[in-house]
Amino acid sequence: MSFKELKLNKPILKAIAEAGYHEPTLVQEKTIPLVMGKKDVIASAQTGTGKTASFALPILQLLFDRQDAPKRGKKIKALVVSPTRELAVQIGENFKTYGKYSNIRSAVIYGGIPMEPQVDILKKGLDVLVATPGRLLDLHKQELVDLSAVEILVLDEADLMLDLGFIDDVNKIARLCPEEKQVLLFSATIPFKVEQLAKTILKSPERVDVSPELPAAGNVSQLLYYVPKKNKMELCLHLLRNNIKGSILIFRRTKMGVDKLERTLSKNGYKVETLHGDKSQNDRKTALGKFKNNYVNILIATDLAARGIDVKELDAVINFDLPNLPDTYVHRIGRTGRAGKMGMAYSFCSADEKQYARNIQQSIHIQIPVIEDHPFPLDPKAKPEIHKKKTGSKHKKGRKGAGSKKKKKRWY
Ligand code: AMP
Repeated sequence: MSFKELKLNKPILKAIAEAGYHEPTLVQEKTIPLVMGKKDVIASAQTGTGKTASFALPILQLLFDRQDAPKRGKKIKALVVSPTRELAVQIGENFKTYGKYSNIRSAVIYGGIPMEPQVDILKKGLDVLVATPGRLLDLHKQELVDLSAVEILVLDEADLMLDLGFIDDVNKIARLCPEEKQVLLFSATIPFKVEQLAKTILKSPERVDVSPELPAAGNVSQLLYYVPKKNKMELCLHLLRNNIKGSILIFRRTKMGVDKLERTLSKNGYKVETLHGDKSQNDRKTALGKFKNNYVNILIATDLAARGIDVKELDAVINFDLPNLPDTYVHRIGRTGRAGKMGMAYSFCSADEKQYARNIQQSIHIQIPVIEDHPFPLDPKAKPEIHKKKTGSKHKKGRKGAGSKKKKKRWY
């Protein structure tokens, strides 16, 4: 399914294309039509499934399509309540990204920082407000935020919201909004207390369930290497020299990355072919043919270019860049370990990709063994609390990988 088939309008399609999204994730496919159909929705989906866009995109579209354009940017029409400020900020950023061409005003408010700048933003008028419960209620008490025109209320990470003790706040916020409103509730899991909350706030909700996630391939041994971004190339060469043999598929996020890796590996004497969106159909066929017939044993590809290719008997997959979606990870590593054979999946994770690694592991319910004993470790202090395969003290102090901003251009 494409985003176009979800009947999203041009300004939104343009913004998501620039964000590098090619097709909707499962939760987006299921949720977007329900939200656009003005249904209440209770969705069980965790971070990493693309759940934010599953409510942000249709909300932007509903607001954009309204006839009363002059009223735009004045009263809050969509309110998103988030349990933590980090999540609130992320949601706010997503609204800005997806709403880039829609002329919809959005803002984020949360506690722990001075109120004044937030009050100024509220005074200027908004269409979408993302807020943590405490600060929202504080501002409401002081009559600095007006919820009387809210048409859509989103409760994100409802299970965490309740775990953090926000149940009364959430009920109060729901009551402060008009009785007639659309409510969307998202939760990683739907325990009894979330069901209860949903019963009091939602009206005949439609259910969306995108868990359990695809199980990760059982015949694949997965290994995780924390490594500074600048050292990934060297780590790759090191592993190819010492550990990884046979036919190998290496995934990179961008076509530029594919080309760069190809140059380095070729210079180092490896026989390599590549697949990416800039290659003609003929070139791709030739590259794939050479790989399948063992003229070359390394194929470097982007996810999109690798889609649908069937290469039997792969020995290893290397995730040179970690994918941002767990499903993509599962699809990638599922290309090895086929037909009863064991396969290996090596994943390189730089500092800026740690959140992806967390999301992937949460989603596949596996703690991927971490190989610490390699020449290019990340700063051990920067490591998250993960299961460690080796606990040796061989770490050198490494520089953290530089945070990479997402490319805005077509990148596959
Ligand atoms: P979320 O589950 O909303 O936290 O999203 C997880 C990550 O997936 C974020 O980095 C999003 O930017 C990204 N994302 C969301 N939808 C898509 C999509 N359709 N294609 C690719 N990436 C996406």
